[in-house]
Amino acid sequence: LGAVSQMQVALAALQRVNDIVFLDEEDAGDAAISRNLPLRVPTAQSEALIEFRSVRFAYASGTQALQDVSFSIIKGTRNAIVGPSGAGKSTILALAERFYEIDSGAILYSGNDIRSMPRASVRSNLGYVEQEATSVSGTIADNLRLGNPNLSDLELMGALDAVGLDDVVHRSSEGLQSRVGDDGVMLSGGQRQRLAWARVLLGNAELLLLDEPTSSVDAVTEEILQNLLASQTPSRTVLVVAHRLSTVVNSDQIIVVEDGRTTASGTHDELLLSSEIYRELAVRQLVA
Ligand code: ATP
Repeated sequence: LGAVSQMQVALAALQRVNDIVFLDEEDAGDAAISRNLPLRVPTAQSEALIEFRSVRFAYASGTQALQDVSFSIIKGTRNAIVGPSGAGKSTILALAERFYEIDSGAILYSGNDIRSMPRASVRSNLGYVEQEATSVSGTIADNLRLGNPNLSDLELMGALDAVGLDDVVHRSSEGLQSRVGDDGVMLSGGQRQRLAWARVLLGNAELLLLDEPTSSVDAVTEEILQNLLASQTPSRTVLVVAHRLSTVVNSDQIIVVEDGRTTASGTHDELLLSSEIYRELAVRQLVA
C-alpha cells in the first residue's frame, strides 16, 4: 500500500502539472487573440467530441447531483463512467443530452458550448439507450424507422439480427409489421433495450450514450451488448454508464464519479493503481 499511495501522490502531482500546462495554453490563446496571432489549439482538446468543465448541477428538488464534474471524451474512443449508486452517473448523461441546464461550468461539443446549440441539434448527433428502455407502441418497423423512414426491410432485419431480435420477427406471422406493446408482441425489458440498440445502430449518431442495465439483462443480451460496444469504435464514440466490470475493462478511458465529483480517470490498469474507490468497485464487480 505504501507504493500505491506514493503512486497516488505522483499521479496527483502529474495532474497538477497538466492543469498548469493547460492554463498556460489558454492564456497563450488569449494573448494570441489580442495580438492577432494564429491561435494554437492543444491537440487533445481539438479532438474532444464532448467535454465537461467543472460542471455543477442541482435538480429542481434541491438535490445537488453534480458538484464538480470534468472530463474529456476523445472522438472514436470507448469510455465508461463508474461510481457508487447515486454518485451522479445518469445525471451526466441527461446533461449531455441537454435535458436540463447546468448551474455553472460548461459542456462543450467539439468546442461549442451546449447552451448555444438548439436541443434538436444536440440530440440529432446522439444515440441514446436508457437503462429502462421505454415501452414502444406501433410496429417493429415503425420503431426502427424513427430516425430514418427510408430504411429498407433488409436493413431493418440486419440490425435486428445484430442485436439478436430476429427470432421475434420470424416467429410472428406479421414479421416487421408486428405491433409491439399491450396490443401486440410483448417485449421483455431486455428485448426493448435490444430494440433501442437496433434503432441506434441504424442511425447516424456520432456519439452513443448508454446507461447499462444491471440485473434485468440476461447473459445473452450482455454478450450482444459487449460485442456491439466493441464494434462501434472508432467510427463512433461511446460513453457508457457501466455497472459491469466486463463493460469497463477494455475502455480507452474510465471516469470515476463519487458524490457528484469526478475523482479519477484512466484505463482499468491505471485506475487499479490510482483510485481506491475504483479498486473497491472493481473487487465488487462494479454493480452499484
Ligand atoms: P445509480 O447508479 O443508482 O443509477 P447514479 O450514479 O446514476 O445512480 P443519479 O441517478 O445521477 O446517480 O443521481 C444523482 C443524485 O441525484 C441522487 O442523489 C439522486 O437521488 C438525485 N436525482 C436523480 N434524478 C433526479 C430527479 N429527476 N430529481 C431529483 N433528484 C434526482
